[in-house]
Amino acid sequence: DVTLIIIFALIVKEIPSIILFSICLVVVTLILLIVTGRKRLAELDEIKDIIANIRNNNYETAEGIQLSKNLEGLQEEIKGMFDKAKSDVEYLKRLERIRSEFLGNVSHELRTPIFSIQGFIETLLNGAIDDPKVNKKFLEKANQHTINLNNLLNDLIDISMIESGEMRMSFRYFPVREFLENIVNEMQSAAKEKNLQLILEPVRENLRLFGDKTKLKQVLVNLITNSIKYTEKGTVEVIVKEEDKYGEITIKDTGIGIPAEDTSRIFERFFRIDKARSREVGGTGLGLAIVKHIIEAHGSKVDVKSEVGKGSEFSFRLKK
Ligand code: ADP
Repeated sequence: DVTLIIIFALIVKEIPSIILFSICLVVVTLILLIVTGRKRLAELDEIKDIIANIRNNNYETAEGIQLSKNLEGLQEEIKGMFDKAKSDVEYLKRLERIRSEFLGNVSHELRTPIFSIQGFIETLLNGAIDDPKVNKKFLEKANQHTINLNNLLNDLIDISMIESGEMRMSFRYFPVREFLENIVNEMQSAAKEKNLQLILEPVRENLRLFGDKTKLKQVLVNLITNSIKYTEKGTVEVIVKEEDKYGEITIKDTGIGIPAEDTSRIFERFFRIDKARSREVGGTGLGLAIVKHIIEAHGSKVDVKSEVGKGSEFSFRLKK
């Protein structure tokens, strides 16, 4: 009890200094709060300025974004965000450019056959229909342009399916010999029309390769059609080379060939070495773009070897 009384007396005696100490503590804390609060407000203003500058496109590069020393971490984050947003915008702009270029090309490609058909029909209506020397020829030409138009629309449908990811693939093992024999037989008449020999080199009977037969038929028809279109004399050969793990299918022609600088560009949509010639033979400029996509969907790629005036070779590999 005595000790309690002594402690109590001591506390009572120290009360004024405790109060004083507490007041000092509160004052110092308040001052500190005000000072740091001001600093935080200034930092917030700095961040607000940066955001406003970004919004107003005032920065060319992320290097222009500068915050004070103690906000260095945030500065790096903002720079990263700026770079990401910039590259996203650039990517979208590029897509937009490609899209509008594509649309321009499509309109142009559609206009050519429509104008020609219109021209032939008008000429016929204006009297040529009664001229036996030209009437059949004009009708045949108009007909050829409707075929071209149809080819173009079919290729455009394929391209848009590819773009929208709707081109579904169905991979299976399939017998290669039978598959190629059917295609080559179907295309014999087109080759004969140009006096070309279309040959399927011997293929092992039981060879099976892995892929989507329907889409691969489209690839082969496209490549063989091209070989026939761009060859004036000689042969178009379909060759299968068998390796350990894969089979390689090659379409080889003795045609006009492709200049070295164009071999990579021929897979671009609407790229043609000779526009007039391609149109004349019913080309759309989209065939190889579709071929490339289908072969890439098989995890493979199309190789081109060509020499101007000698011929071209298109090959791709499929899993065994
Ligand atoms: P196209 O419908 O014009 O044939 P493609 O996309 O199939 O379009 O081919 C693009 C271009 O590549 C053709 O216009 C042609 O110039 C060239 N090309 C394609 N295959 C051959 C080939 N076998 N020989 C020579 N040139 C070819």
